[in-house]
Amino acid sequence: MIFRQLFDRETCTYTYLLGDESSKEAVLIDPVLEQVDRDTQLLKNMGLNLTFCLNTHVHADHITGSGLLKGKWPGCKSVLGAEGNETAVSDVKVAEGETISFGSHKIEVLSTAGHTNGCHTFVVRDQGTIYIFTGDAVLVNGCGRTDFQQGSSRNLYNNIHTKVFTFPDDALIYPAHDYKGYTVTTVGQEKTFNPRLTKSVEEFIDIMANLNLPYPAKIDASLPANLVCGLQNLP
Ligand code: FE
Repeated sequence: MIFRQLFDRETCTYTYLLGDESSKEAVLIDPVLEQVDRDTQLLKNMGLNLTFCLNTHVHADHITGSGLLKGKWPGCKSVLGAEGNETAVSDVKVAEGETISFGSHKIEVLSTAGHTNGCHTFVVRDQGTIYIFTGDAVLVNGCGRTDFQQGSSRNLYNNIHTKVFTFPDDALIYPAHDYKGYTVTTVGQEKTFNPRLTKSVEEFIDIMANLNLPYPAKIDASLPANLVCGLQNLP
């Protein structure tokens, strides 16, 4: 499997490129609007054809590149998880247990609501390695905030513990953001050292209720755009 981790410096967002060597089909997870030219150039350089843009959730901090990328890659479909995204628009909605394919590879889908009520985690297995794309559910040494978009600390904690943390300790976790320079972690590392997720559920809820985070800078522009998977019908 072809795998690249890409970074948007302004919003500290990771975008992931996954591709199949033989069919040349590729997907992007959480593309960022401002990085569409970079991502398009990379896909072209690698001879890949973009077939899906997946979004782990309706982001509040940036506009997804999905809509713009669809214009550049005819046939490319936008994807959101099904649960919690009933009012959002995307070409494909995948429910937990369903899969998205690119070439001979497939992406498994888990519903991991909590940061928002529509968050999903994507899982890819390749040659004995498990790649878990957790969006903002599990971050390295942290987790997504739960104070807007119908977030729920209890749901987040339970979904992480009953779904993400049931994978083997060496399964790789690739988050949607990092603000400190971390790029990847593992199930074992987060189960052992995550300062929030190693606590009891009641302690976790208390921690999350007292983060006192500022209102997200781009939320008012991002949410309406992302509810239709980014800018659409551009000239
Ligand atoms: Fe988020």
